[in-house]
Amino acid sequence: MENGSELEKWGFRGNEKLSAALASAVTVRGILMKLFESLSKDDPRPTVPLGHGDPSAFPCFRTAAVAEDAIVDAVRSAKYNGYAPSVGILPARRAIADYLSRDLPYALSPDDVHVTIGCIQAIEVTMAVLARPGANILLPRPGFPYYESRAAAINLEVRHFDLNPEKGWEVDLESIEALADENTVAMVIINPGNPCGTVYTHQHLKKIAETARKLGILVVADEVYHHLTFGSNPFVPMGAFGSIVPVITLGSISKRWIVPGWRLGWIVTNDPNGILRKLGVVECITSYLNMAADPPTFMQGAVPHMLEKTGEDFFAKVIDILREAAGICYDRIEEIPCITCPNKPEGSMFVMAKLNVSLLEDINDDMEFCLKLAKEESVIVLPGVAVGMENWLRITFGIDPSSLEDGFGRIKAFCERHAKKQ
Ligand SMILES: *Cc1c(COP(=O)(O)O)cnc(C)c1O
Repeated sequence: MENGSELEKWGFRGNEKLSAALASAVTVRGILMKLFESLSKDDPRPTVPLGHGDPSAFPCFRTAAVAEDAIVDAVRSAKYNGYAPSVGILPARRAIADYLSRDLPYALSPDDVHVTIGCIQAIEVTMAVLARPGANILLPRPGFPYYESRAAAINLEVRHFDLNPEKGWEVDLESIEALADENTVAMVIINPGNPCGTVYTHQHLKKIAETARKLGILVVADEVYHHLTFGSNPFVPMGAFGSIVPVITLGSISKRWIVPGWRLGWIVTNDPNGILRKLGVVECITSYLNMAADPPTFMQGAVPHMLEKTGEDFFAKVIDILREAAGICYDRIEEIPCITCPNKPEGSMFVMAKLNVSLLEDINDDMEFCLKLAKEESVIVLPGVAVGMENWLRITFGIDPSSLEDGFGRIKAFCERHAKKQ
């Protein structure tokens, strides 16, 4: 090992400012890592992963055969071995525009579409494009902490608005008006919702659009769970209100096709009035992507076939499993006194449940609950602090229903064991 003085000759360091910004950011991965570390090695039972949403490990969630074939054909064609243009290849952009236009009152053009490495890169690019010096952005609480981490990394100020559990986790629109000022650039909504499992009505989305218009801010709509709905509200894309307010829609194939490892997503400008183009937002997205990495060209080559040919039977099967799993989740939570679920999930693959620690003997908060649950029962659940809500739990039901039953059986036993004696 070199000692301190010998290290001084080196002119490089880890970026302290970036490290500090990132250290203060709570990441789902960071918390999950802690939970996985506390698993007991002596438990012969399989770990039940209710912490993060990746159903691809379960055979019942295997993606559509046409999607797999599309990739194989794209590779075999030898047409996609080269670099792609940084905004994405035209057939992919056209296919995404056509696919999303099916749900819109107007038609998107390929020029409205930028192809990205999953929805994660779409978030990264959009936040960077909006982060003018002094700007702030409004994020939902509870939410998806990647937005907070990204904002921390690029010095974009974050202001949180609440989602109201008493009103089906709708956006508290009054708090939006109170939070926004002349430096507010956008508000983010996630619909269908992670972590709440909500699906917003046409009416609520319209109100969001009208509020954003009044404030002169953009709506960034994270629709990575588009069409993963199984309750009474159908999925309505925020872009349907693009003539009221400009909307940037972020999405990917990761969740609907259950292939988060394939890393293909999009940034779409839903803006029939052309405001984003006139204000230089589209140009900035294009410039940013010029210096960024692209999704593999064969993935882009496979996209048109995937989007056009995947049958309703595949989507319906996934929805049926998620509906069953969401029901199990809701019913089992009702049987456990120390956790309550204000709203039956109707979309995505997550639900928020409130933890009442006053009913527990030796557990003081959600983090402790989750650490002990991992250790004693080999069940991973995400503590609410990770998504901005202390003493709540985020539970994913994107796993096969029998494992979910197993997991809830163990959570129930755990809660009974730790309950305060009357
Ligand atoms: C999973 C998820 C993403 C990331 O999607 P990828 O396509 O896998 O990059 C983005 N936003 C939300 C709300 C998510 O749950």
